[in-house]
Amino acid sequence: MIVSFQCPYCGVGCGLLWEEGRVRGDKNHPATRGDLCKKPIYYPKVMNKGRLTKPLYRENKKESFKEIDWDTAYYILKQKLGILQKEELYFYISGQLMTEDIYVINKFVKGFLKTNNIDANSRLCMATPASPYKLAFGSDGPPCTYEDLDDADVFVFAGSNAAWTHPVVFKRVLKRKHESKLVVIDPIKTDTAKEADLHIQLRAGTDTALFNAVLFLLHEKGWVNWDFVKNYVDGFEVAFEECKKYPPKVVSKICQIEEKHIYELAELYAFSRKLISLWCQGLNQSSQGINKNIALINLHLATGRLNERGCPFSLTGQPNAMGGREMGYMSNGLPGYRDVRNQEDREFMERFWGVSRGSIKATPGPTITEAIDLILAEKIKLLWVVCTNPAITLPNLDKVWKALEKVFLVVQDAYWNDTCSFANLILPAAQMGEKKGIMTASDRTITFNNSLAKPPGGAKADWLIFTELANHLGYGKHFSYKSEEEIFDELKQCTKGRLCDISSFTYRDLPKRWGKRWLYEELEFPTQSGKARMFATPYDYQEADLILITGRTKNQWHTMTRTGKSEELLKGEEEPFLFINKEDAHEFGLVEGDMVEIFSKDTSLRMKVKFGEVKRKHLFAAFGYGFSHQAVINTLTNDLTDPISKQPELKFTNVKLKTVNRRISLHGVEK
Ligand code: SF4
Repeated sequence: MIVSFQCPYCGVGCGLLWEEGRVRGDKNHPATRGDLCKKPIYYPKVMNKGRLTKPLYRENKKESFKEIDWDTAYYILKQKLGILQKEELYFYISGQLMTEDIYVINKFVKGFLKTNNIDANSRLCMATPASPYKLAFGSDGPPCTYEDLDDADVFVFAGSNAAWTHPVVFKRVLKRKHESKLVVIDPIKTDTAKEADLHIQLRAGTDTALFNAVLFLLHEKGWVNWDFVKNYVDGFEVAFEECKKYPPKVVSKICQIEEKHIYELAELYAFSRKLISLWCQGLNQSSQGINKNIALINLHLATGRLNERGCPFSLTGQPNAMGGREMGYMSNGLPGYRDVRNQEDREFMERFWGVSRGSIKATPGPTITEAIDLILAEKIKLLWVVCTNPAITLPNLDKVWKALEKVFLVVQDAYWNDTCSFANLILPAAQMGEKKGIMTASDRTITFNNSLAKPPGGAKADWLIFTELANHLGYGKHFSYKSEEEIFDELKQCTKGRLCDISSFTYRDLPKRWGKRWLYEELEFPTQSGKARMFATPYDYQEADLILITGRTKNQWHTMTRTGKSEELLKGEEEPFLFINKEDAHEFGLVEGDMVEIFSKDTSLRMKVKFGEVKRKHLFAAFGYGFSHQAVINTLTNDLTDPISKQPELKFTNVKLKTVNRRISLHGVEK
């Protein structure tokens, strides 16, 4: 039997086939045409290692877990949900769930528990690009598709090591290397940067200043596409007024780059045939992330680089973050790109779900980092985590761990993960291949994931767990789903007439992309004026002794819960490491393999150093190593967030370094 599905790892969304225990690319998949990277090849080997198969419970966290049956688990949850006020509950879900799971959980929480206390791990990943897309174009949909990679003559990767994180997209770009120009903007000479024709190795966090300087030059040189701006763009003057403060000479100092590189970049935005800007967490995981994203999109609007002339293309982190966004799974969203703050949207969903008027609250719930503070303030008392591992991925972990200790914690996952060690109740979940459903890739292509096996033991599909609980709570009439397809048939109806309309899709049609190839082909935008919008993007300098950047390793996915079980994928990535520039290392008297202590706030961590081609005074460490590795890097990061998207800063932490068992130290920490 051959079963088709979408890769459960990154947001490229490769279409795969499973045949006789092997995974290969699906040549007929319209988005990725049979290509894949190494990670999913080992999925069959790890799929059944370390699985959760029975509900586990302990009221007191000092006790051991006891196995319980599902009815007892639902009884416990019914009791808790009955005692607690709705604002004392919080749900934290994942872009690795299928759209059907996400839709059911969102309906249960926002429609029936009547609280917006729900967020997704997209808050750490795609919360930022979703807002600038909406601000600039009026919707959260990526304007172009992967086909646009095949005829562009310039690619600008900003804050993206796509060679590691989106390898199939990067391979597609490299196929065109001989007839295109590749620019990489990154403080690290990553594998992506090593392929670049121009690597702009800027100081971390200064991207907005760089993009503002490019807009400054475009104006100064007369390279703005005034016809495009006049006809299709609002806000140029406001955006440019801010950019006047960013002449290249000044910005080259802020960014610590050569001034001529700013000119080169401006020329590319002005004169290339088709330019695609691709970006990822380097711009998103930032306390100034919205401005970084908008400043980059401003360059496309000022030069008319949309559709056949280019595109600003945000690379999505997780396999179904796009599906989650379509279903409005963060604290402000509702299905069909709707928003709780919009009365019409709320009323539509209330009628659609058959709940009384006013059931959906008009105020977005707290984000996950805000929820952690509310747990510590004893305002949130039950936290339900689905398919993600916040004990490792959230910033400022000392604080998070205190909150996880304090709250009644439900963890619903396919595998035992680090967060389970704080749990009261653990619910075993099915994963890819054990349930059906759809996922949406970065370029809006939707793939149907078929199942090939039953979940092990008592594990259940995530949608089924919430459906059964809804039945126990008396909402059965509204959650009478017998299959994933019934959920799909319901959810697609609330997209009818919306930008992400999939109301005519069936499981049998898929894979298929929603929307036109170019979402704004007619250059009409779903904004109030019908025009796209530019905004002023001020930049704030961030001081630091040494700048710590966190990110992914090449072959591991997030916290290694699944990929870490493959020897083949783990090879060379077994141990946490800290990349340091060779010259900085010499100043510290370090050789490769030495131990250092890294200090941030009132905490510190010991790690081994490796020489890496990071910019001077910058360090890089991977965030995915969990408790078993004893070097959880997010103990050092802060929970400072972007003021609009509330996405935390994970690419700029001010740290100090001390050598361990050596006597030389130059950066302010005692010897
Ligand atoms: Fe999976 Fe991403 Fe690799 Fe494609 S590029 S196979 S989606 S991890």
